[in-house]
Amino acid sequence: MTPDAVSRLNHGRRRYTETVLLSLVACHECDLLHEKHELAVGEVARCVRCNAFLYSNKPNSIDKALAVSLAALIMFVVANAFPFLAISVSGNSQSISIVSAVFALSDGGMWLLGLLCFGFILLIPLLRVIGLLYLLLPLRFGYRLPGSELIFRGIVAMSPWSMMEIYLLGAVVALVKLASMANIELGLSFWAFALLNLLSALAAQMVDTHTLWDFLIHSRGGKDAIVNGGHRV
Ligand SMILES: [Zn+2]
Repeated sequence: MTPDAVSRLNHGRRRYTETVLLSLVACHECDLLHEKHELAVGEVARCVRCNAFLYSNKPNSIDKALAVSLAALIMFVVANAFPFLAISVSGNSQSISIVSAVFALSDGGMWLLGLLCFGFILLIPLLRVIGLLYLLLPLRFGYRLPGSELIFRGIVAMSPWSMMEIYLLGAVVALVKLASMANIELGLSFWAFALLNLLSALAAQMVDTHTLWDFLIHSRGGKDAIVNGGHRV
């Protein structure tokens, strides 16, 4: 057999293996492998052993996730452009924004806490929203941009470290405690931040991981293009 024939045979075997692997899905809870089937709109696939969620076919999931992610980005800008709250005590009034609160921690000597707040409350949530838009906007038109796989893995890895809801909960607890000692006025940023928390949770619900991987693989510039381009073979 000539070297060219061997190369073609190996290429064919690899493509067959990839096709078989892409048709399987593993249960996150018990690792049982399932063969993937096309679902009707609204249907949900569950593990036959432990009944855990596997994947679903939500109607217009990319459109909805894109709309929610765009709204989340707008709320992020509003939340950081306006005062979070204003406190008045004995005639003295002071307003503070989320960014200035983070820098106030650093200025007060708690630079590590300030750095963690900056990362978990501002940087990671912003990167997640921008990353989702980078994936979803081209997918809406059937394309994927370079580095989409890496960015999607990054979004999944960053998800547990986005802690906006903890910050909001901490702020509400502090406000309840301060309410009897000072006059507190909630700013536009507070409501935008609360809405941002809601939208971030909604964006995660709109499209599940398996569905988004399927969209990425089957989009133009997806797996077939990668295989033909020779990067994966
Ligand atoms: Zn299972």
